[in-house]
Amino acid sequence: MVDVCRLCEEEKELRLSHVLPSFLFKWKKKHGTGFFRTSENPNKRIHDGLKMHLLCSDCEQIFGVWEKQFAERFFKPFHEKTEYRVKYSDWLIKFAISVSWRILIYHKIKGGFPHLSDIQIAYSEKALSSWRNFLLGRTDNIGNFEQHLIPVGIIKSYREDNSLSPYLNRYFVGSVDTNLLRTPNTCLIYSKLNKLIVIGIIQQPIQDYLEGTRIEYPSGEFKPRSIGLPPEIFDYFNKQANLVAQLLSTLSEKQWSTISKSYENDIDRLKKSDIYVATGSDVSISGQAAFNILESKHKK
Ligand SMILES: [Zn+2]
Repeated sequence: MVDVCRLCEEEKELRLSHVLPSFLFKWKKKHGTGFFRTSENPNKRIHDGLKMHLLCSDCEQIFGVWEKQFAERFFKPFHEKTEYRVKYSDWLIKFAISVSWRILIYHKIKGGFPHLSDIQIAYSEKALSSWRNFLLGRTDNIGNFEQHLIPVGIIKSYREDNSLSPYLNRYFVGSVDTNLLRTPNTCLIYSKLNKLIVIGIIQQPIQDYLEGTRIEYPSGEFKPRSIGLPPEIFDYFNKQANLVAQLLSTLSEKQWSTISKSYENDIDRLKKSDIYVATGSDVSISGQAAFNILESKHKK
């Protein structure tokens, strides 16, 4: 398909590109339970991520270099539990911006920004052009459109009064999720790459809205540290966890039996997996609800 490439803005043959990096889907196929499902049709397994004609092959190669660095130096060591400290140079922010930029463009192409305020639409356009100029090496300055990286793991116990989704830990360790999030004075691009969440700031209500998670430029170190997240982000985690569980609860008997067989066939691997540990923690926090949330519909 010949059209204008969204990055170099030249008219070229466009590739059918992954909106999220393809290594993520390859990794999940290899290590995860492998079930990705679309919300339109949860009974159909999809083994690949969402694709769109966005980039020419030259621009796709540029992204590919940063994706490879992120996958090899960060994503894989982090998920395989061998490395929690990562020294990084400019490849990390370039990768993060390439992800946030793609998701924002995707929302724009798919329907504009109907739920954003006029100010947020203006900020979104500014973020797109500022991120694009950075990706093309035309500027070193992304202004207020910062990138953040939030690691998530398993919550083992919880003593607060407000309730957690009975599926929260499984959402944390096993889900890929993207969204354009907003409140009246906040607007963010959210890309959950399994246990690493990239957030691109479009509008923040206060300086340092997210604490301890900003990706530094040109270099920095990712290490265990205390992180401050606003309550609306935590609410979003809970809401999405319930949504994923609801989606799973609409699976047919046939699909459930396919999933249980794929677990039974590889019980040793399952016991070592994050999803197994996460299920145990969901049960210890939420009790029977951790199972009930998946059973509401398919038992009918
Ligand atoms: Zn291009």
